[in-house]
Amino acid sequence: MKSPLEILQQHFGYDSFRLEQASAIDNAIAKKDSFVLMPTGGGKSLCYQIPALVLEGTAIVISPLIALMKDQVDALRINGISAAFLNSSLSGLEQNETLNQLKQGKLKLLYVAPEKLSADNGAFLNLLNEVDISLFAIDEAHCVSHWGHDFRPDYLFLNGLKRQFPKTPIIALTASADEITRQDIIKQLNLHEPLVLISSFDRANIKYFVQPKQSVFNHIAQYLNEHPNDSGIIYCLSRKGTEDMANNLKENGVNAAFYHAGISAIERAKVQDDFIKDKIRVMVATIAFGMGIDKSNVRFVIHADLPKNIESYYQETGRAGRDGLPSEAILFYSNADVMKLKKFAMIEGNEEQSTLMLQKLQQMSEFAEMQKCRRQYLMEYFGEKHDGNCNSCDYCLSDFENWDATIDTQKLLSAVYRLKERYGKNLIIDFLRGSKGVKITDYMRSLPTYGIGANANKTYWQDLIKQLIINGFLRESNEEFPVLKLTEESNLVLFKHKKVNLRKVKEQAKAVSVTELDTDYSAHQFDSHEDLFAKLRTLRREIAERENVPPYVVFSDATLLELSTYLPHSKEELSQISGFGAFKIEKYGEIILPSIVDYCIKNNLTTKIAEKKPKKQSTPKKEKTYEAGTFTTTYQMFKAGNSIEEIAKTRSLSLNTIQNHLVNFVEVGKIKPGELMDINKIEPIISIAKNQAIQSLKAIKEELGDDFSYFEINIAVAYHKLQVRG
Ligand code: ADP
Ligand code: ZN
Repeated sequence: MKSPLEILQQHFGYDSFRLEQASAIDNAIAKKDSFVLMPTGGGKSLCYQIPALVLEGTAIVISPLIALMKDQVDALRINGISAAFLNSSLSGLEQNETLNQLKQGKLKLLYVAPEKLSADNGAFLNLLNEVDISLFAIDEAHCVSHWGHDFRPDYLFLNGLKRQFPKTPIIALTASADEITRQDIIKQLNLHEPLVLISSFDRANIKYFVQPKQSVFNHIAQYLNEHPNDSGIIYCLSRKGTEDMANNLKENGVNAAFYHAGISAIERAKVQDDFIKDKIRVMVATIAFGMGIDKSNVRFVIHADLPKNIESYYQETGRAGRDGLPSEAILFYSNADVMKLKKFAMIEGNEEQSTLMLQKLQQMSEFAEMQKCRRQYLMEYFGEKHDGNCNSCDYCLSDFENWDATIDTQKLLSAVYRLKERYGKNLIIDFLRGSKGVKITDYMRSLPTYGIGANANKTYWQDLIKQLIINGFLRESNEEFPVLKLTEESNLVLFKHKKVNLRKVKEQAKAVSVTELDTDYSAHQFDSHEDLFAKLRTLRREIAERENVPPYVVFSDATLLELSTYLPHSKEELSQISGFGAFKIEKYGEIILPSIVDYCIKNNLTTKIAEKKPKKQSTPKKEKTYEAGTFTTTYQMFKAGNSIEEIAKTRSLSLNTIQNHLVNFVEVGKIKPGELMDINKIEPIISIAKNQAIQSLKAIKEELGDDFSYFEINIAVAYHKLQVRG
């Protein structure tokens, strides 16, 4: 029997597993149930595809996205794996053919649409009794739960699966599940003592930018100009917005199309297909576009208008960079958008819902306006801890200077105080600047604070208020017309002479600018040969067209990038390229190699494969959680006697990252908890963790309070996992 790693290398051409993949795979091979929560692009598919190849029999994969099913099956077949799918797009004849293959045990994987489960009163599941089934994989598992955002009644047929097939392991996978949904999925599917694997949701290869919404079209046109080879999505709020933008772009020579719910289904399917097949470079769309788009080489997602909440923003930006290569998310922000969306958020007759929507919108605008690491905000929004300093958002990439804002803050806070915390920012500013407007009453004019802020203009005070809110010196009430309120921090400034030091952007990092950022991966970061890259891309498109599959199914951008960087000259050398398994080398080696060799002869180059050893993961260096090498370095430095701070400094990584590395070694027993923390603190943590159906560090932290750090909780939980596994 081949090992999972051998299969990974031979069939998929990858060098090593990502962190949670290995655990999920081992667990399935041991015939146990698992629940896998991983972000989009995290690599969920391999979690069941590899066990499917190791185990005897056929793996049944339930997946609701019919469009993706064919892609997945195509991708498996291209890697020499026998797979098929069953859904309503097939004729009766084709379905019978597939069922025959299933009965004869010829399939390693069978993808099935959920409607097949309910058809003929569950006839399909009964049929499976006669077949040797290796495992069940339930993709988009949140569809089984009413709590999830995409409940599908057909998924309820999966309730009985465990009873009917008690010995067959089930892997439930999803990229979107909050705590309640997670628990519900496990319950609905009757998973038996499942291994719960939750990956970080940090998409380290996506850079986040927010820019003021001014001359948006020009900025976008410039961006596209600066990234001539990149494909991506531009989201607009309205249908008309998408049409105008797309037409404008086309007039400027950009290969763009628009997509919204108002165009015919046939036309929609066509532009979507063209986008996936790299025939359309830029898709301008409303939020109707994206669900079930698996295109891995989306390099940028631009929001020309504000999304209505962080969830949508994160999901939409998450469509970038599934192949792990550097990608960008750019949001154009204006306060006018917030006003517009506010109107939509107000649902007549449903106050509760309206309040919630308004609150979510408020958070969205807070995200856009704040002066703080964007990634940190996002991670914390989704309940994960992050130190900030991600070094890949506009905030972290900007230049700052400190300034002493104490005096103006005192003026502002006293105005709020004098006016008894009853007014919004506009009135406070008018009052401070000594406005003669009607809203300023005679009483207000008689107060000593009236007019003490006339030294600065309105924008200045607006910015200061924003900064103070972000830094906790003020807060805004949660009403339709928010008023400014004092906080504990403001009292320290007003009454205890606390100083206020704020940071001011000296030079803001922008996505759209020619010089500052090293974002053009093909030109700089990897030192690849751009013209060869372009040539190989054309070749890939030809192959894809011939085989009628999307180009990224043939090779990912990551693979093309490695080819045009390391210039392999032989099949032997090809095997070192990420994404080239034995099967693909045989199938495409002779098509690809001549192009590379030709190119080298013409340009007087030779192979650089020696510079690339061992095979590198397709994930970029920054992706913290996944790369084995970086963990090992931390481990070795730690064992050599360096402190966490020292390691972080030497490696230019955050403390948080180093701590996470070390926790992983606790989990495999290579570092003892006592080497990292006070061992007396372990027991209290474990006793709470034990009683949780699903591990939530946040819940543990809440219960234990400030005496316990996340790091300590992490260590104890890791240690507990080690003990449980024995
Ligand atoms: P998900 O279903 O979680 O969104 P996929 O399973 O589609 O993610 O994987 C995303 C991309 O990452 C795919 O291109 C896949 O081939 C690649 N990938 C997955 N696991 C690995 C790995 N261990 N090494 C390199 N690339 C991987
Ligand atoms: Zn950041």
